[in-house]
Amino acid sequence: MPFAEIIGQDRAVGSLRAALARGALHHAYLFGGPAGVGKGAAARLLAQAANCEGPAAAGADACGACGPCTRIARGLHPDVLFLAEEREMAKAGRWEPKGGRTPSKEIVVDQIRELVDRRLGMKRFEGRRRFVVVDPADAMNVQAQNALLKTLEEPPDDTTLVLVSSSPDGLLATIKSRCLRVPFAPLPDELVSARLLAEGWEPAAARVAAALAGGSLGRALGLDAEALEERRQAVEEAASLDPADAGAWLGYAARAGKDRDLARETCELLLVWLRDVLAVGVAGDGATLALPDLAPLSRRAAEALPPPAVLRRRDRVQQALRALRQNGAPALALERMLIGWFHG
Ligand SMILES: [Zn+2]
Repeated sequence: MPFAEIIGQDRAVGSLRAALARGALHHAYLFGGPAGVGKGAAARLLAQAANCEGPAAAGADACGACGPCTRIARGLHPDVLFLAEEREMAKAGRWEPKGGRTPSKEIVVDQIRELVDRRLGMKRFEGRRRFVVVDPADAMNVQAQNALLKTLEEPPDDTTLVLVSSSPDGLLATIKSRCLRVPFAPLPDELVSARLLAEGWEPAAARVAAALAGGSLGRALGLDAEALEERRQAVEEAASLDPADAGAWLGYAARAGKDRDLARETCELLLVWLRDVLAVGVAGDGATLALPDLAPLSRRAAEALPPPAVLRRRDRVQQALRALRQNGAPALALERMLIGWFHG
């Protein structure tokens, strides 16, 4: 797969390709940005492009089909090491903790010593450049980060480390300061929904998924298209509730709160919808909406509610989301949210 398959990251990909073309790769990169926007794919592509033997190599790209490209994609290239959480590597048969210990959700110091240090202590086997890709880098515990620091301070020749992280704040400052930051941006909704359409999604579901995914193609692809329709209906219903009919909205809270995931995703979608209501309030019919299917409801709400009231509703939804994350009862969280909406 060539770099062109990474969508919406022209800046990040452009800077990497420029470094490849100059033959001037940095010894350590930190790919930061939301989950599911192409950071991991870019790390693999960088290793492939630097070692590609196909026709794409001349253009600072990867062909995806030659021997090195294929071996790197399968994790079988001796000069390209992919480091992940113990549990993931154990599942893939690539790691076994010492003394029969249960593999953890972290990247531990033994992995750095036995996989990274040992590999880098040997000479290159077949490739032009060696790579260590740590993904997710924030899974390294403090001891593991400190062990990796030595390598970052005195990197071996012809070696590039790529740390991939959706929460780089979890890394030690000493690690971050030794890496060249390559920021990956959230993807625009249109790119996410276009990709979902190309995957065969229904247009309405693709739009809702893109709005919910917050710029992460990975998250959008992980959503269940059928469940989304249920969420969209739940939002439509909430938006249509009559403030005077307490029986109706208590019933709504009970139904939409029947399970935690439904309640949480309904709240997340309500935030997206309230943003649309604000946008209509400001820009009228010219507003670009994340949920065009709910445009009539958004217009009606924008007419009925001044912006401060919309913002208050948004605060109530955020409170409900916090309660849900802290294991609050879903129906109760929604009920309180609606009381706040209608009687706050
Ligand atoms: Zn190739």
